Amino acid sequence: MRAFSIMYHDVVEDGDFGSSGFPGEGANVYKLRREDFDRHLDAIRVVGRPVGTIGSVGHVGEDAYTTLLTFDDGGTSFHHPIADLLEARGWRGHFFITTGRIGTPGFLTETELRDLKRRGHVIGSHSVSHPTRMSALSRAELDREWSMSIARLSDLLGERVTVASVPGGYYSREVGRSAAAAGITRLFTSEPTAATSVVEGCVVFGRYVVQRDMAPAWSAGFATGNSSYCWRQSALWKAKRIAKALGGSAYLKARQAVLERKS
Ligand SMILES: [Zn+2]
Repeated sequence: MRAFSIMYHDVVEDGDFGSSGFPGEGANVYKLRREDFDRHLDAIRVVGRPVGTIGSVGHVGEDAYTTLLTFDDGGTSFHHPIADLLEARGWRGHFFITTGRIGTPGFLTETELRDLKRRGHVIGSHSVSHPTRMSALSRAELDREWSMSIARLSDLLGERVTVASVPGGYYSREVGRSAAAAGITRLFTSEPTAATSVVEGCVVFGRYVVQRDMAPAWSAGFATGNSSYCWRQSALWKAKRIAKALGGSAYLKARQAVLERKS
């Protein structure tokens, strides 16, 4: 099964990046201005790829060409303006919630979460505490992050929640196994790929990330699986992973090589 999943975070009004989600410049580079996000959605609509939700994607073993729009962290902007902008196009999103932040400044309230579900959006877990390095946790800690966040959301929404995304992109097979044990059947990582895999019954999806200063053509490119966009992000991601093992200068060289390659 292949699915083109795109990962966004917050979408802010008037360039107020501190208004929703986690604070700080490290988080802000993943947030889009409302007017930019609007253009990204228009670019996806123009290429004509159907945008759907996880329920509309085919079964494992089939090719699925639906584009999935996902949003991480649980910021207040999911309710407004993101859900409104999606619904204006007849689309629904996948909203992944850091449950320990529900109702705190910059994050969704319980009432807003119930409203998003009522409006047809998919609500999933993004862990309880958003650990800095999810894959470095012990199995007992992982189990706690998944099972407690799933229990909180299921209780709040009145139905069993079975989807999740991995905070910070720190995925490992143990992270997947722990998610499966907590009853998660669909898990989104940050690996830029359309390929899916299965870990103990849980389908693992990659995602292409959109950051603040990326042009709308990137969203359209990811939605259609355009190789010049998907390949470039995938190459950067692999270079980054290698560099983490080798040290910083190798990463910077590899990054430069990728950036200089014409699409
Ligand atoms: Zn996150």
